[in-house]
Amino acid sequence: MTIIPYGRQSIDKQDIESVVAALSGEFLTTGPLVELFEIALEKLVGAPCVTVSSGTAALHCAYAAIGLKAGDEVITPPITFIATQAAAAFFGAKIVFADVQIETGNIDPRSVLNAITPRTKAIVAVDFAGHPAELDELKEIAKSNNIFLIEDASHSIGSLYRDKPIGSIADLTTFSFFPTKNLTTAEGGAVSSKNPELLKKVRRFSRQGMVRDPKEFELLKEGAWHQEVHEFGLNYRLPDVLCALGISQLTKIQQFKSIRKSIASRYMLELSANEHLTVHREKAYVDVNWHFFPIRVPAEKRLPLFDYLRDNNVFVQVNYLPAYRHPVFSNYKIKPSEFPVSEQFYAEEISLPVHVNLSFEDQSTVIELLNRFLS
Ligand SMILES: *Cc1c(COP(=O)(O)O)cnc(C)c1O
Repeated sequence: MTIIPYGRQSIDKQDIESVVAALSGEFLTTGPLVELFEIALEKLVGAPCVTVSSGTAALHCAYAAIGLKAGDEVITPPITFIATQAAAAFFGAKIVFADVQIETGNIDPRSVLNAITPRTKAIVAVDFAGHPAELDELKEIAKSNNIFLIEDASHSIGSLYRDKPIGSIADLTTFSFFPTKNLTTAEGGAVSSKNPELLKKVRRFSRQGMVRDPKEFELLKEGAWHQEVHEFGLNYRLPDVLCALGISQLTKIQQFKSIRKSIASRYMLELSANEHLTVHREKAYVDVNWHFFPIRVPAEKRLPLFDYLRDNNVFVQVNYLPAYRHPVFSNYKIKPSEFPVSEQFYAEEISLPVHVNLSFEDQSTVIELLNRFLS
């Protein structure tokens, strides 16, 4: 019996030809495909983009761009991949948690309000499973407190919020192009922003902090070779070879999205009659490019169901262990009882497979196994 993975890349002949052509070109990295990919991405996400080497790098650059420093506080949801917090912690920021909404797993604006202090520098929203967070409310809170809204859109490229593309709404939006995500460059990521100042800082941080524009030089007596650093950066460049894959993948994003949506719709339709589980739904004002499909089951059934599906070669996942439970946060002395919804969400959640090459028969298998176990 073959394994049904919860997420998998879709690579076709066009993708392979695109990469091969890049390999025989003049540049393997820092060439023309970087800009071409960034321009193509901008068309999809509705704001200028800087490509970087991973979703984690994208978050690191976003935090650098807002000038995050030791003692600042960043409000994050517990239900996320740890990179959301890790990249902020590297600046010495204090990670603050706000509880999530049970129906989406996304950060709850009401609990964000309770978490704001004079030290808060940013709110970070994560679009869990591809479903956009409550961006209008969060933007309003950010604006009235004079802080930044960063959106970790690792799951949600191609999703819409009130008809606006994800990437065009928050002060900074970060994307990941890891193979299981909705679009891949193997490893890769991007940051989008409509704020040119912020995006310039992202670009500079991701390119060693190098200043190349003579108008900005502080050292004026050097030759034409000169470039200088005002603030440290790192090397987070995405090479041309991977941009070539990204450019090719992007041409198919709407096709990918319609397949992902129809897989999610079928889960909603064929599982909703089962009273032992709760399916995720789209809120009325969003259009979701589903990364995976979350369901919730009674907590006592979750582990046995997970094992049952895995034993039957359905590679479901659980997303995510509330971040504050990772031992790295032990010195924060966080009481899980402060985040009852995140705890409940984690106890009940299972992520069902969604990917472009999931066959109708394989999805039937997943649905039949679920309905058999939960009856
Ligand atoms: C995948 C992911 C990241 C990190 O992306 P990488 O490309 O793997 O570095 C960050 N946040 C979330 C929510 C993710 O799912």
